[in-house]
Amino acid sequence: MASNGPILIIGGGIAGLYARALLAWHGRAVVLAERTMLGDGQTVASQGILHRGVKYALSRKAARAADSLEQSLKAWDDHFAGRGCVDLRDLPVVAPRMHLWTRPGSVSSIMGSLTGMAASLAMKSGVRRLARADFPSSLAPAPEGVSAWEVEERCIDVRALLARLRDVDAGPIVAGAGGGAAELAARFDASAVVLAAGAGNESLLSGLSIDPSPLCQRRPLHMVVMRGAPFDFNGHCLQELSDKPRLTITTSKADGDRVWYIGGDIAERGVDLDEAAQVRAAVSELESCIGWADLRHATWSTLRIDRAEGRSDDGSRPDGPVCRRLRGASMETPAWVVWPTKLALAPALAATLMTSLDDAGVASAPRSTGPTNRDIPVCPLPWASVPASSQAAP
Ligand SMILES: Cc1cc2nc3c(=O)[nH]c(=O)nc-3n(C[C@H](O)[C@H](O)[C@H](O)COP(=O)(O)OP(=O)(O)OC[C@H]3O[C@@H](n4cnc5c(N)ncnc54)[C@H](O)[C@@H]3O)c2cc1C
Repeated sequence: MASNGPILIIGGGIAGLYARALLAWHGRAVVLAERTMLGDGQTVASQGILHRGVKYALSRKAARAADSLEQSLKAWDDHFAGRGCVDLRDLPVVAPRMHLWTRPGSVSSIMGSLTGMAASLAMKSGVRRLARADFPSSLAPAPEGVSAWEVEERCIDVRALLARLRDVDAGPIVAGAGGGAAELAARFDASAVVLAAGAGNESLLSGLSIDPSPLCQRRPLHMVVMRGAPFDFNGHCLQELSDKPRLTITTSKADGDRVWYIGGDIAERGVDLDEAAQVRAAVSELESCIGWADLRHATWSTLRIDRAEGRSDDGSRPDGPVCRRLRGASMETPAWVVWPTKLALAPALAATLMTSLDDAGVASAPRSTGPTNRDIPVCPLPWASVPASSQAAP
């Protein structure tokens, strides 16, 4: 007989925690099982940018992905205004808006992309070209010919966001929860199981006798961590004819050090490089794109991390979040597997999941007020444990 126990979410990254908050907000009983610490995977390794779609304005294919952002953007805006399933009114932000900038000379075609074919999208994305006099202090020393824009795209403190979602009164979170999905479903007498474990979905699927390969993909990144950064900076360096920024830099603090976390195209192109070669590539890119930054006090390390996603036909980034009902699992409890594709898309993913659970007639128990989960730890930032002097500038 079908259980009417809670919906069990396995995995406490952004996908699992946001879905937990939304399902509870809509009156469902939920329990979340986390193997280690909250966000211990991609979420704490992310750059924390709540994309508004401007980088997607740069290519026709990627413009399709921007459509799936709208629903999520509205949800985030609501939360920052204190509405909806989580109150983010005073969430610490790393930056209230991001900057876009170009290298000298590349502006005309990029402007064409931004304001031509995808003009409406660029407008919707809240992009404002900056006059030279309005350049922020981080871009003020740039040579003539550099253009800059401001984009209404928040960069958030991801650990604070995870803590805020954890603290929503949305049912128990069980940390240190090992075991397969069937075992956990029986333990919690779940009415449905949602696999939201990022890269961990692969082994959870195998444990249910489902071949993960047609469902999952990984796209590796080789990020660069630069301590001793000269100033706060959060922005994308645009390159022509690509929806991928050449560099994306975000700033955080670790042990009093200012840290630039560097991704974008360099992190994709550098996956086959060793750490020293990737650091050299980063120095060269920084000199080319933001040559006025003083790197003399910088120390370096790199971070390898896979983007774990639902499978797309050609192995590229899926157009939106992925939510699949599982068939043929070796347990009776109905099950779903989900990936948000981007942190920013967690609200759209959770809404899709909720509709799918409703359509499947999952009859979970009603929400009840649960214990506080404040003692469940949020995973530290990956570079918090990397010694500041791990590597000198090459
Ligand atoms: C370097 C990098 C930068 C990024 N920057 C951005 C950005 O700026 N903006 C943006 O929108 N997106 C960004 N992304 C994408 C975004 O981070 C991911 O889409 C998102 O964090 C995925 O969340 P998730 O909850 O699916 O997975 P994860 O964050 O990986 O969480 C999975 C959770 O499941 C747990 N788990 C694993 N296995 C099990 C198990 N067997 N049982 C129980 N729990 C388990 C893990 O411990 C973890 O807590 C970035 C990704 C990367 C890699």
